[in-house]
Amino acid sequence: MQHQLPALPYAMDALAPHVSRETLEYHYGKHHQTYVDNLNKLIPGSKFAEMSLEQIIRNSEGGIFNNAAQVWNHTFYWESLIPRASKKYDRPVGKLEQAINQSFGSFDAFKEKFSQAAVSTFGSGWAWLVRNNNSGVLEILSTSNAQTPLTDPTKTLIFTCDVWEHAYYIDYRNARAKYVDSFWNLVNYEHALKNFEK
Ligand code: MN
Repeated sequence: MQHQLPALPYAMDALAPHVSRETLEYHYGKHHQTYVDNLNKLIPGSKFAEMSLEQIIRNSEGGIFNNAAQVWNHTFYWESLIPRASKKYDRPVGKLEQAINQSFGSFDAFKEKFSQAAVSTFGSGWAWLVRNNNSGVLEILSTSNAQTPLTDPTKTLIFTCDVWEHAYYIDYRNARAKYVDSFWNLVNYEHALKNFEK
């Protein structure tokens, strides 16, 4: 089975000025594409050849895991964002808003904690908002490299922030904190609520 690069859900320049067209041309057009291409080179003839992307991620390790997880993580990251012009909500709404208030005290307190997790993730990785399905409480996670909470059946993923340098170096150079500040302008709270209600 050939895995495909999913279409970007908006135009390459739609996230500017927070994330530039040039960043998307590299991040989506080259990095995300390369993970897809690498995965398609690694799986033929293996037990992963006919598995879905999620099945591969849950059953593999090493290079196959890294590339498959990065394909999935990036698709989820693009869906976590929305251009300012198409944005319906500037902050969490409905049941997600209630859960954020219950889990973190307030939206501002949550933002601060999430930003802190994103900025302090050492090296390459991801910051995630997830729901713990056992307790119902929302949690902030930081993962390294390609690691993803998708492999944990007790978590429902709400949204993510990519903190690999390739996500921000063109626009912000080494200033990851500035990129994370800008990230809040782009969070798709409508999509986040849909994930929360899954
Ligand atoms: Mn990335």
